[in-house]
Amino acid sequence: MKNIDLIDKIILFRDERNWKQFHSLKDLCLGIGIEVAELQELFLWKTEEQIETIKTEKKEQLSDELADIFIFLAYLSNDLGIDLDEAVLKKIEKNGLKYPRDRSLNSNKKYNEL
Ligand SMILES: [Mg+2]
Repeated sequence: MKNIDLIDKIILFRDERNWKQFHSLKDLCLGIGIEVAELQELFLWKTEEQIETIKTEKKEQLSDELADIFIFLAYLSNDLGIDLDEAVLKKIEKNGLKYPRDRSLNSNKKYNEL
């Protein structure tokens, strides 16, 4: 399933409830940040060892938060008229230029430090 099909489903879900009226770009931006924070909260103050346990014991919660983030991303891209598949492909291409494989392989340096 392409992301675009998934986005259509998400938008249909919203349209069936007439929720677009509540979805200003400002609130969608705040919403995606809040969902990211909910994901981050699952890891807050946890050691690397505890995180290993969380990955299995809280897999459903992790999955829900990732989905929430994607749903907000779908709303935002739809309402901004941005094709998310195209945007991601274009960004990967840009990243490829910023991080040529020969200079970035096994390196965690930022592009301007390569
Ligand atoms: Mg959530």
